[in-house]
Order: sequence, then C-alpha cells, then structure tokens
Amino acid sequence: MRPPLLIKNALRIATMDDAGTELADADILIRGHVIEAAGKNLDCDGAERLDASGCVVIPGMINTHHHLCQSLTRATPAAQNEGLFRWLTTHYEIWRHLTEPYAALGASVGLGELLLTGCTTSADHTYLYPRGQTRLIDAQIEAARTLGIRFHPTRGSMSLGVSQGGLPPDDCTQSEEEILRDGERLIKEYHDPGPYSMLRIGLAPCAPFSVSPQAMKQTAAQAKRWGVRMHTHLCETTDEQEYCLKRYKLRPVDFLESMGWLADNVWLAHMVHVDDAEISRLAAAHVGIAHCPSSNLRLGSGTPPVRRYLDAGVAVGLAVDGSASNDTSDMLAEARQAMLVHRVKSGVGSMSARAALRMATRAGAAVLGRDDIGMIAPGKAADLAIFDVDRIDYAGSAGDPVASLLFCGASHRTKWTIVNGRVVVENGLLKNVDERALARQANAACLDLLSRAGVTA
Ligand code: ZN
Repeated sequence: MRPPLLIKNALRIATMDDAGTELADADILIRGHVIEAAGKNLDCDGAERLDASGCVVIPGMINTHHHLCQSLTRATPAAQNEGLFRWLTTHYEIWRHLTEPYAALGASVGLGELLLTGCTTSADHTYLYPRGQTRLIDAQIEAARTLGIRFHPTRGSMSLGVSQGGLPPDDCTQSEEEILRDGERLIKEYHDPGPYSMLRIGLAPCAPFSVSPQAMKQTAAQAKRWGVRMHTHLCETTDEQEYCLKRYKLRPVDFLESMGWLADNVWLAHMVHVDDAEISRLAAAHVGIAHCPSSNLRLGSGTPPVRRYLDAGVAVGLAVDGSASNDTSDMLAEARQAMLVHRVKSGVGSMSARAALRMATRAGAAVLGRDDIGMIAPGKAADLAIFDVDRIDYAGSAGDPVASLLFCGASHRTKWTIVNGRVVVENGLLKNVDERALARQANAACLDLLSRAGVTA
C-alpha cells in the first residue's frame, strides 16, 4: 500500500469545480488513486510530501483527439503547406509502412509530451492498419501503461478505398467484418467501464470520405451493444462538405444523423463548418466536440464557432490532434491557442484563460463521458498538473498566477504530473522513460518511414 501523498503550500489551486473555486496557499491530500481533500493547513501522518510553493495546480488536462502514430511523421516534407485531402494522400503513402513497434514508439512520444505539458488523460484515434499490422492499438496500450497515463484509445477504421470512391489507398482499408471483429476483441480484452478507469475503448470510423455507410451503421449498433463511446472526424473542411453533398446528397451533420450517430455516446473531432440549426441539433442530441485549434489553423481548415457551441450548451473539449498536423502534443499550448484564436473569430471577450482551461479539463471529461476526472475535489481521481510559475518566463504575473499559465510561459513543462495518485513527471522529466533515447529512436523511425515511401528528407 502506497503512503498518502500530501501536496503542500501551492500558490494557487484552480479546482475547476462548478463555482470556479480557486484556493490560495493551499494543500491537496491524496490517498491511493483518489483526492481526499483540498484546502488550507492539511496534514497527514506518514504522508509523502511535495512542496508546491510557487506552483499553480490544475486538474490534469484531458486530450480528446489524437493520432499518436503521427508523432513519427512531423513536419513532413511535401505536406507542410497542403490542405487536408492532399495532406492525407501524401501521408497515406508514409503511414502504410507503419508497424507495431513504430506504433508503440509514436505513442510513447505523443503520450510523453502530453504528460510533460500537464495532460493526464488522452484519447487516440488509430484508423490506418497496413496489411498484417493488426495490433497497433495493443502496442499503444502497452506504451500508455509504461508511461502511466489514463488512456482512451479508439478503434478507428477505413473501409472505403480509392476504387470505391474513397480517399485512402485500397491496401490501407479493411473489410467491415474485420473492423467489427477487432473492435469486439479490444473491448473484451481491455475496456474498463468502472470509476477511475485507466483504459476505455471507443469505436471510431475515420471520416465520411474513407468509411462506408454500412460500417458507420454497424459501428453504432456495436457501440450500443457494448456500452462504449463512438468517435469520428466531421465538418473539418469544405472539401468534406462537398464530398458529402456529391456522394450522399447530404450535409455532413445530416449524413451523420442518417447513420444513427446523433447520440449522447458520440464525440466528434473538428466541427468547423456548421450552421446555427446544426449547432442546436448537436446540443439537443448531447453530442460532444473535440476542438483542435492548432490543427485547424495548420491545415487552413478554418476555426469552429466555439463561442456559439458553448452558448448553446454543447460540451467542447480540447485536443492537440495528430502530430502530423500540429505538430506537437503540447496540451498547455493548445489551451493558449484556443484562448487566442477565438478572440479573433468571436471578439476579444469571447474566450478567457479560465474558459480555455475549463475546456481542457471539465469539458474534456464530459466529452469522454467521465465525471471522475477533470476537477480537484474529494472523491475525484488524483490527476494533477503542477506548474512552477516561480520562473523568469512567468515573472511579473503575480496578479493572476492561474491566468499566467496561458498568457505567459515559454516552456510548458510541469514540475510534477500526477496520474491516478502516481507521480509520472518529476522535476520536469518523465519518470518511466528515457526522453533522449526516445527522441533518437523516433527520428530514426521517421527517416526509415520517409525512405520506404520514397520521400527525400
Ligand atoms: Zn484527427
């Protein structure tokens, strides 16, 4: 049995509770994997202590969309200045050479960066399975366990190849039977629906332009049968909208509804191109959104109307998206990006630092269907991000240390990241992985993938 963990003397604790309570000069007591108390002058005999003087503590952030494999294909030559469809077709030629060891490596890089920048729970969407590489998600799960992060991998899929009018090469797609069988295998083997779960599986056809309607409908039935959540990309670009109108005579949201996907166990990545009536329908159906501001900017896709989503009562979480379109897994930078971009889109008063942090924490939990993470309160999971703001890059922000997390700061590393009561980042370094060795392996893998695809580095 681990001794209790007592975090002492935090400069500020932003609890992200309903009232937005923030505590000054306060402590947090953790017993096992659960927060027992947060308040002033806490003590506990026999507890291990962390001195959080000069630190701001927030709930561990929640990343609601990723493609961890892409961590090996960042800043790819020939795809740096392309929009989504050409960016995808360029990368398919590289990703078709992915292997299980490379999936583990990409996951270690992406999840490692997330932990270092204050994220304690991450979703993933792995949808491309080269022939014979059927256990990419298993490899990622192993990496997540080693790093100690809470993980929501989704079993992605593509069934509509070029020969059937889809976007991906035929040999990167799978049959509907193969997709459903593997989804069921993963749920049976790994899915833990209980409180404080460290691992939940979701089902995630890739997008309307790479998945058959049959696969969408079958996935909805399978998710209902097993009580798991469903995820896909939608309304990312105007190209996708034109594809849906041409192929299905429907706008993407109408297509989604016709597939039985406007449901409360669904969360959608992007949702940039929508009208007001569609926003109301998404709110009424309790569909969640994974907002990926950096990726949308990088690919020139647009910026979603997040202020309108929030005003309509839609749960909007934040996400770094895959590392070929961001190209980092820096969760704190993503919250800052969200704060800044909506000031341009919807006015300077439309997105405060605290509103962006709430999307990154509480709302992210709601998007993943969880009420046991995203908040610092007794009974919640002990997932914490502890940032040292007693540094030159935060100097002069003592008037509001919580907001300084987004307004200031050059390096976004936490001092400590705690997941499920365990310290997994200590003094700004991953505890369970050698970062330099990981970076060297990832760069070698990157060059290998580029050369296999015939791309000159
Ligand atoms: Zn994505």
